[in-house]
Amino acid sequence: MTLSRSCLAEFEERFQAGDHRRMLSGDIPAEADAAVPLIVYEEGKFALDTAALEKYLLHEDVKDRNVVVLSVAGAFRKGKSFILNFFLKYLYHTYGSEPVETDWMGADDQPLKGFSWRGGSERDTTGILMWSKVFLATIKEDEKIAIILIDTQGTFDSGSTVRECAIVFALSTLMSSIQVYNLSQNIQEDDLQHLQLFSDYGKLAMLDSGKIPFQKLYFLVRDWFYTYEAAYGEKGGQEFLQKRLRVLPQQVPELQSTRRRIKSCFSEIGCFLMPFPGTKVTSNPHFDGRLSDIDEDFKTSLRELVTSLLSPENLLVKEMCGQKIKARDLVQYFQSYVSAFSGEELPEPKSLLAATAEANNLSAVSAAKEIYSTQMEEICKNHLTAQGLIAEHTRTKIEALEDFNLKRKIGGEEFSEKYRIKLESDIEHMFLQFKQHNQMKGSTTHAPGVALGIFAIFY
Ligand code: GDP
Ligand code: MG
Repeated sequence: MTLSRSCLAEFEERFQAGDHRRMLSGDIPAEADAAVPLIVYEEGKFALDTAALEKYLLHEDVKDRNVVVLSVAGAFRKGKSFILNFFLKYLYHTYGSEPVETDWMGADDQPLKGFSWRGGSERDTTGILMWSKVFLATIKEDEKIAIILIDTQGTFDSGSTVRECAIVFALSTLMSSIQVYNLSQNIQEDDLQHLQLFSDYGKLAMLDSGKIPFQKLYFLVRDWFYTYEAAYGEKGGQEFLQKRLRVLPQQVPELQSTRRRIKSCFSEIGCFLMPFPGTKVTSNPHFDGRLSDIDEDFKTSLRELVTSLLSPENLLVKEMCGQKIKARDLVQYFQSYVSAFSGEELPEPKSLLAATAEANNLSAVSAAKEIYSTQMEEICKNHLTAQGLIAEHTRTKIEALEDFNLKRKIGGEEFSEKYRIKLESDIEHMFLQFKQHNQMKGSTTHAPGVALGIFAIFY
């Protein structure tokens, strides 16, 4: 994979172990924190930077936590990255290791930092970026979670990129627990059409698991001018959305079914009407994001928006077909979905469902393998007799297989069978290594000279 990862490269240079967990008080991201391109469109296809994904999601402090994934998607140059940077300010302030008493919005004259906004060098790239800092929090008394922020880029402006943008939109919707669909001025029929793929997928997934496949879809309408029709904020947004998603007898059947299916695909659909931010934001070439240049109405709504999406009581943990997933499972889902989208055409909803089932089964395999390896590592700290080791292996293997069997899996029993076989074979493979290790330990205990000889061969 040849990604031109200038952003990541720069980040790598500055990254020092543990630094990304350091929190500065206030709203200024730690120097080392940056936007990391996870999925980039290059040379005609999408490439996933698995190393970057694993670096953040498989981090010791993160991997076993349930995840909240908030993504913002929609057309280019409509203020997505701009608003995400306010989300970042709130997250640093609220979930930082040193919570501060000051206002999360920060000082009036501070330039806005974070995801690159105003176009700039990234204007022509299409892809998905993640903020390198994963925010850790404990909600509902003892649920440990990790919060991940996703930005998307796509131009939506020429025939050749429509497919790419649809993929970016689809991938980010699949991967997030909250998909903020950023729109300008209104919700048009076209905007709803983008959700068609999900509505078909949803129908299939529901037949399969009986659960609603996706979680929260949140229409964020920017530059809302029709306050006589509905007021700014979430309440006005809900009223407006209800009208937009209403199924009417005079609508053509296609419009009716899109609306019905969208509603049945997402467990929650919200809408927020955002005021115009002011002419300095939209027209002043020197505008750097400082609060003093932003209209009061916008800032008031921004407070409401951020609380409604990101305050501890409103955070939504990522689920796949009704099951909560952990940060490390997310790696698997990313891989399966990116490969489902690697073809020339948009995948059929059927293949999306297969990708979901694959990732779900592979996650169950890896959780079971971890049970086996953790226990065996502990047991093998001391030398065991050959029979003793086999007995421990058999017992631990049964436990791991039971864990796999008891997990509710997407795709049904038949689909799972090949993953169960893979699990058994992986365990047997691990066992051979434990056995070898144990034998070496035995020879060290009984004849140190021989053991040294073995090491000499290996190194
Ligand atoms: P993105 O491509 O959707 O990520 O857009 P950016 O966040 O890079 O913002 C593009 C431009 O839109 C910037 O010049 C912002 O100042 C401006 N902008 C930010 N928020 C808004 C908004 O709510 N309305 C309008 N009209 N412009 C905005
Ligand atoms: Mg952007």
